[in-house]
Amino acid sequence: MTKGHCLCGVTSWEYSGDETWACFCHCDDCRRNCAAPVTAFIGVQLTNFKWTGKTPKVYRSSKAVQRHFCETCGTPMAFQAEHYVGEIHLYAASLDNPQDFKPEFHVHYDDKLDWLHIRDDLPKYPHSKT
Ligand SMILES: [Zn+2]
Ligand SMILES: [Zn+2]
Repeated sequence: MTKGHCLCGVTSWEYSGDETWACFCHCDDCRRNCAAPVTAFIGVQLTNFKWTGKTPKVYRSSKAVQRHFCETCGTPMAFQAEHYVGEIHLYAASLDNPQDFKPEFHVHYDDKLDWLHIRDDLPKYPHSKT
C-alpha cells in the first residue's frame, strides 16, 4: 500500500498497485490551487484507491474538474476530471514518504514560471500530454 496524508492528518488515502503516471504540472490552475510554483502529481486507478481518514471537501474549479481538500487544514488532496475516466490524481507532496516520488515528465511547461529553474532531462510537454 502507498499512503498519504494532509498537514493535520485528518484526511488520508491509500492505493495499491502501480501509478498510471507521475508528473509535474505547471498550469496556472494547479499553481493557484496549491499556492506553489509547480505541482507534482501521481495518477492512480480509482479501483485501487480509497480515502482512509475523513473524506475531503470538493471544490469544482470548472464544470468537469473537482479538487479535493482537507476540510480541517485546507491541504489540497486530489484532482479528478471527467476527461480522466476512472482515475484520481494525488499530490506527490502528500505521500507519507514524498521521497518515493519518481517523476516521469512535465506538462503545461509553456506556463512554467521564469524564476523556477528545472535541470532534469524529463520530457517537457508545452501543454497537456495528449
Ligand atoms: Zn488536514
Ligand atoms: Zn495543472
